[in-house]
Amino acid sequence: MKKIVATGTFDILHPGHVYYLEESKKLGDELWVIVAREKNVVHKPRPIVSEDQRLEMIQSLSCVDHAVLGDMDDMYKPIQEINPDIITIGFNQKWSEDKLKTEMHERGIQSEVVRIGEYCGSPFTSSTKIINEAISRRTWAVPDKSDKITTLIDFIKGKGGEAVLIPAEDVVTGEWVLQKCLFGCSGYGHRFGCPPYTPTPSETKKVLSGYSTALLIKFEGDVGVATPERVVSRRMTRYVQQVMYDLEKMAFSFGFYKALGYTGHQCGWCAHCPAKEKGAKITDCVNRTKMRPSMEAAGIDAYATCASVGWKLDILTCTEVEGGSVLDSPMTTVMLLLIE
Ligand code: SF4
Repeated sequence: MKKIVATGTFDILHPGHVYYLEESKKLGDELWVIVAREKNVVHKPRPIVSEDQRLEMIQSLSCVDHAVLGDMDDMYKPIQEINPDIITIGFNQKWSEDKLKTEMHERGIQSEVVRIGEYCGSPFTSSTKIINEAISRRTWAVPDKSDKITTLIDFIKGKGGEAVLIPAEDVVTGEWVLQKCLFGCSGYGHRFGCPPYTPTPSETKKVLSGYSTALLIKFEGDVGVATPERVVSRRMTRYVQQVMYDLEKMAFSFGFYKALGYTGHQCGWCAHCPAKEKGAKITDCVNRTKMRPSMEAAGIDAYATCASVGWKLDILTCTEVEGGSVLDSPMTTVMLLLIE
């Protein structure tokens, strides 16, 4: 008998969960599901639904043969006890297949690891999306402000983008992000919107703790023409930065007095930026009312933050041009507006 193990939090059960489990079951004869303990959900907001109720819901699915709660201290313990042939992971679960395999092999677990694809049959295939929809439709959830948030989201849609309301605690920062600017980007120190002029990841984390919500925004594609010298067209840079400037102003005028934007791309307001000059200071920026750092420049892990709402960002394919340039890859611009 071929045993399969699937794992997850399964907060606010939706068709994406059912698809993941049904596809997992197809790989063998007996499906075991390990439901995450509340205490162990630390990479995203704590689940809304209790662990007992989440377990009960999973047990009620016809494709599930056995469902158990995870171990409080050792996530591998129930896997060792079940000894499955295959472990499946969901399309947006943050596991690296290789890392998982290596760690399991070290524990003597020889299971194969299979990632299940994405379910695309419904717009509500993430708990965060369902929560956002509930917030935007129920005025009691954000007293007096839900209509204004809807207007901000509609503004982004009108500009050709997409926006979702997320808890500010879902915005992920990482010390590694700054290291990538330092050692991976030829634009380091070239604009005041980039390190070393911008807040460090730790400073941004502290800023985030003063907010409850944020709008995560994305634009697909480029409105201009990318060249081998530029990762993104100048037109696109100006376009999204103008959108963020207008959005932040609009949010402020709606009463979100703490509205603070993180834009996309290197600052593109001026043709020449004094940031490269010796002894330059952030106050030398001639356009500080408009200039905002990009998410990455402020130490935000855009990939992990987008994953929390089910947006999967692909790594861009770069040519051999120094600094990299996007010629044929589809490009996504991601921005963030903190609101309270
Ligand atoms: S607004 Fe102008 S001076 Fe300020 S960072 Fe951008 S390009 Fe540089």
